[in-house]
Amino acid sequence: MGCTVHDFLYVGALNVYIDQELLKVLEAWRCRACGAVLAGERPMGPISSTEGLKGVTTGEEERWLAVARKGAGSLPPDVLLVRARKGQEFSVEAIDEEDSRLLVRDDWSVVRASDGSPPKTVVVYDLLSQLKGYIDLSTWPPKAFTLQRRSAVEGDLKPL
Ligand SMILES: [Zn+2]
Repeated sequence: MGCTVHDFLYVGALNVYIDQELLKVLEAWRCRACGAVLAGERPMGPISSTEGLKGVTTGEEERWLAVARKGAGSLPPDVLLVRARKGQEFSVEAIDEEDSRLLVRDDWSVVRASDGSPPKTVVVYDLLSQLKGYIDLSTWPPKAFTLQRRSAVEGDLKPL
């Protein structure tokens, strides 16, 4: 059942740091009527109330993934929001990956599309499972922490 207008409640934030520096904040709101999830990737500095909002996922078919990539040279480390469906491929520019295409498997884990192996320089988190927490990109793999009881494990996204 869809809402004409969603009634969003703030769920929480995922702060992305590089050492002591706050790089960006990922946020999510959930509709208290239908469960749809609005997610945003908010840069630091003065921003409008809608800047960085990435859209709404509805139902069990879609999830928001927080995709961390290792940086090197001209490619800075970053965490990107990706709207994902099972069986879907998406691309993330990352170092040491011969092919940037990644595949979302039926258990929501993410592997390289080319050979089904885990990516070396990309770590994927389920956004909702990692809220009220942080990811620190100053080491690789990143340090990740959440106040939630369930925490995302590398390559093994827990059901919500
Ligand atoms: Zn709704």
